Amino acid sequence: MIKRIQKFFMENGLEANDARAEAEFLVCGISGFSIEEIITGCAIQNEDEIWALARKRVETGAPIQHLTGFSYFMGDKFFVNSDVLIPRPETEILVQKAVDIARNTGKNPAGGDLKILDIGTGTGCIAIEISKNLPEFNCADNTCGLTGCGAETAGGRTLEVIGIDISTAALRIAIKNMEALEQQRRVVFRKSDIFSSIYEDEKFDIIVSNPPYIPLSLKDTLDDNVKNFDPHLALFAGDKDGVEFYRRILEGAKKHLKPNGYVLFELGFTNGISQSGIVSEIARKQGFDLKFIEKDLSKIDRVICFQLH
Ligand code: GLN
Repeated sequence: MIKRIQKFFMENGLEANDARAEAEFLVCGISGFSIEEIITGCAIQNEDEIWALARKRVETGAPIQHLTGFSYFMGDKFFVNSDVLIPRPETEILVQKAVDIARNTGKNPAGGDLKILDIGTGTGCIAIEISKNLPEFNCADNTCGLTGCGAETAGGRTLEVIGIDISTAALRIAIKNMEALEQQRRVVFRKSDIFSSIYEDEKFDIIVSNPPYIPLSLKDTLDDNVKNFDPHLALFAGDKDGVEFYRRILEGAKKHLKPNGYVLFELGFTNGISQSGIVSEIARKQGFDLKFIEKDLSKIDRVICFQLH
């Protein structure tokens, strides 16, 4: 069935690799079988449903994830719709790095409890996966009544991840994902325009963000798939370099970081130039040290980490 759907997508203008990837996503996602199970001949029960979605994909041009209502990130299923950015594989690097830093910070006896802020959380994928990948930390709230929490493990380190977004519609999806992936113990979502709803004295060990980084002026150069279906609130920055949000976050971060706290960003690139140079310069002026830059599989600077000194 995967081959037939791939062929159908290719006949309707999709490039071979994309057609294959989307066909696999659709058939596996809707049938509930893995690719191995399908290749070894498991009987798919819902072929009609799958074909209906394939036809809709071709007719509307909408991303396949909007039609199925879900996507995958770090191996987990996330609800998506047109109010949120579909999680991208590059963002997994950001989560992995944040988890590594949290673990190291966690080993520091002076470190106390961990608080992490995810700015522009969208589907909540970053906040939720950071929490999921740090199972050794307890929740900050000893009233949740779950095993491993609060008074019972009072000596243990706690973790709280706060995900914020300016979009109420995005927060609805994030909350749904948090519940489905059972991270309510340690993840909280809040409506906030960057730091607007962060309390004056609220301080974090790590601030992460994959902010909108495409300059509005480049709108017409984007793939139709992105331009017509991803929420513009999640894509575009107002300035010519696309660094408006990095700047606003770095300016406010000093006040909301604990001493030696970290800022981790996913970066974009505009006109073929990575934003790492210009973002580093803004960070330096705000009193941050550059800790590292991580490239993605295409050798593009993708994640950047700063520490407050
Ligand atoms: N944090 C979300 C993600 O990485 C949304 C990012 C955004 O909307 N710019 O997928």
